[in-house]
Amino acid sequence: MKRERWRKSFSEWFNGILRSADIMDTRYPVKGLYVWLPYGLKLRNQVFGVIRQLLEQTGHQEVLFPLLIPEDIFKKEAEHIRGFEGEVYWVTHGGLDKLDVKLALRPTSETSIYPMFALWVRSHADLPIRVYQIVNIFRYETKMTKPMIRLREVTTFKEAHTAHATWDEAEAQVREAVKIYKRFFDELGVPYIVTRRPPWDTFAGAKYSLAFDTLAPDGRTLQIGTAHNLGQNFAKVYELKFETPDGKHEYVYQTCYGISERVIAAVMMVHGDDAGLCMPPTVAPIQVVVVPIPFKSKEAPVQQIAAAATNELVTAGIKAHLDDRDLRPGRKFYHWERRGVPLRLEIGPEDIEKDQVTAVRRDTGERQAIPRRALRNKVRELLEAIDGDLRERAWKFFKEMTHEASDVGTIKQLMDRRGGIVRVPWCGEEKCGLELEEKTGGDILGQELDGKPATGVCPICSKRAKLNILVTRTY
Ligand code: ZN
Repeated sequence: MKRERWRKSFSEWFNGILRSADIMDTRYPVKGLYVWLPYGLKLRNQVFGVIRQLLEQTGHQEVLFPLLIPEDIFKKEAEHIRGFEGEVYWVTHGGLDKLDVKLALRPTSETSIYPMFALWVRSHADLPIRVYQIVNIFRYETKMTKPMIRLREVTTFKEAHTAHATWDEAEAQVREAVKIYKRFFDELGVPYIVTRRPPWDTFAGAKYSLAFDTLAPDGRTLQIGTAHNLGQNFAKVYELKFETPDGKHEYVYQTCYGISERVIAAVMMVHGDDAGLCMPPTVAPIQVVVVPIPFKSKEAPVQQIAAAATNELVTAGIKAHLDDRDLRPGRKFYHWERRGVPLRLEIGPEDIEKDQVTAVRRDTGERQAIPRRALRNKVRELLEAIDGDLRERAWKFFKEMTHEASDVGTIKQLMDRRGGIVRVPWCGEEKCGLELEEKTGGDILGQELDGKPATGVCPICSKRAKLNILVTRTY
């Protein structure tokens, strides 16, 4: 199967697939807002089901906070508000009445959640707190909007918020968040690199920010997750104190970490090909589609056996779907290929004669006959193999697209030619970082977390490098 054409015209591929794979309708009459379609919503729920489960397993509890935040409370943390000022939607009226206090549509929920934490926390025994919610957030995005990637309503924002008695515990929680996210992206087969963001790209109000980035097929990076150590910044603003065992009153230490529907875009884009999506079986809304291949007089048994096979798979907990529509098989194949269903089972007269089904893998196009009695086990085996192979293929591309360079010309050339991620030695000075961005047309992701030590010199000032940074072009 040829797979490379889509990379070259990735933007069209992505926009086309949203509609033709029944993911999203982009014609809603408000800029930056889009409509989830049934198949897309199923995918969304599968993906967020995985992170929900991981968070529940690691001591997080789900909560649900209101969408509206009063202006006076929202504006308390000065740095935070500077970071979001230009992006907030305001509710100014209730019916015909002008509101006394304007209400912000949450662009993120620190300022809605932490004043409530302050009411909940009294003593050290109330700590740590680990909560999360999956909600929509609003940001008045002024750059060009793009479905799932750059939105004015982020429909699906998983934000976790924690509070701790000590800095060390908060540090450990940030590391734990990184571990949870790694497991999450590994399950989705989405490759990533984790970086510590440079100071000028740190979350407003945080001590420091870590971020996960993946690579789109066109060589641009896409940020798909962040984790922030907030220190005591917000605690001081919202009077979030606790009583220590020896009776002192101290501010808590906080962290927060988020994932948005960009991760769904990532699943779609890292596993696609010229024919459409290739869903990893772990999150595929439909894992197996069963297509009867009727042949003249033998129509009835084919339909019956296809229905029985589908039932058997569903009973075994496999997401199987029988496509018994009155369409030519070729049409059905195309339909499910676009949607990326990992495995297709064909059942025709010859299969019935031999007491078998024919399985076709979406990712490789490979066909094989499966004995009818081994159906369940063999399908399970194939789905597992597809998961593993998709993950491996995505990582292979990611690694091929990661380069090292230490002079401006080469970095620029790499950016211009095929994008990707370039590891560059850096002196650590902000001035050089910004100049490097300007001269190469790239964006600095930051310092690779647990990356190897730097050697060589900074390509701008020629001073000895203190660390490596990663240069890319970002979405
Ligand atoms: Zn320098």
